[in-house]
Amino acid sequence: MLGKLTRWLRLLGYDVKYSRSLNDEQLIETAKRESRILLTRDLKLYRQATVQRINSFFVERTTEAKKLASLAKRFNLKLDFDATVSRCPKCNTRIKHIPKEKIVDKIPETTASYYNEFWECPSCEKIYWQGAHWKRINKTLKEAKEALERDKNEAS
Ligand SMILES: [Zn+2]
Repeated sequence: MLGKLTRWLRLLGYDVKYSRSLNDEQLIETAKRESRILLTRDLKLYRQATVQRINSFFVERTTEAKKLASLAKRFNLKLDFDATVSRCPKCNTRIKHIPKEKIVDKIPETTASYYNEFWECPSCEKIYWQGAHWKRINKTLKEAKEALERDKNEAS
């Protein structure tokens, strides 16, 4: 249920595990073993985790920007994109800057002619660049930061 939020957090550089196959008990066990924060939209799981002293967070049904803002507030996350810490949204591995000439065969010709900076995931080999969708990403991050500011102002 939180696939989209997972991809956002990885993009921002946070180490996020995502599973749809583990049951509640296994999720709690994994969070405990790996000292992870448990993010969930399941109130029952959230309560169970809290009782077991797992650092957990109940994700409200709202926009991605507002979800990011509430996580940033609670866990002091930074909401700025930094490619040097970014993780592959698909598989959670740190992405690496890669010279264009090394991957030029793997990308569309038009992409190669428009863009010069590329990153590759060493694990799943997916290639990333700041293409047309990048405007939307920046817009969402800007909205998230504004929501966080509003929230801070209301609280004070
Ligand atoms: Zn990957």
